[in-house]
Amino acid sequence: MKLVNVGDMFYVQAADSDLRAKGECGGAVTAILKYLLEKKIVDAALAMRRGTDLYDGVPALITDPSKITELSGSLHCAPIMQSTVLFKYLSGAKDMKVAVVGVGCDCWAIQKLGEKGVISKENLVLIGLNCGGTFPPVQAQEMITRFYGINPMTL
Ligand SMILES: Cc1cc2nc3c(=O)[nH]c(=O)nc-3n(C[C@H](O)[C@H](O)[C@H](O)COP(=O)(O)OP(=O)(O)OC[C@H]3O[C@@H](n4cnc5c(N)ncnc54)[C@H](O)[C@@H]3O)c2cc1C
Repeated sequence: MKLVNVGDMFYVQAADSDLRAKGECGGAVTAILKYLLEKKIVDAALAMRRGTDLYDGVPALITDPSKITELSGSLHCAPIMQSTVLFKYLSGAKDMKVAVVGVGCDCWAIQKLGEKGVISKENLVLIGLNCGGTFPPVQAQEMITRFYGINPMTL
């Protein structure tokens, strides 16, 4: 019996309260990554870690499920392409199974690079994030200051 069909939609959140608290919006993505690592379905999770501040994202590869919350949260001003990281620095995931989190444009790039054989699609578990766009860091800071009247560096 099939439990889900293509196109089904669910509202989900992490069952673990710590993952829920650390996640951007319920921690479902973090929980899925943790599960994939714990069950050894993938060798590593490729997602984004906060850099010097909220406006700086650093791609990060995690293999230890107990460290997965280091990558929780959304960085709305970090236009890093995980597709580039995959083919430039991880040999196109040809030698390892990787769970990758990416915004829509990035997932599309990964899909296309997979079709060209640059990335091994069969070694990937792709988790796409809903995305209304990435804000340029400087303009985002100006907007937060002008419209919300708060110091953007304290976020
Ligand atoms: C740039 C951006 C724009 C977004 N716009 C919308 C929107 O318009 N509407 C909407 O409903 N949701 C949007 N989201 C998604 C939303 O913010 C949450 O990521 C999503 O709801 C998942 O929540 P969660 O608690 O399960 O995530 P978490 O469990 O916190 O996991 C989030 C995962 O995303 C990874 N990540 C963070 N920043 C980036 C990044 N820049 N690129 C790739 N991976 C990243 C983290 O490392 C982590 O693995 C956006 C996310 C991003 C990164």
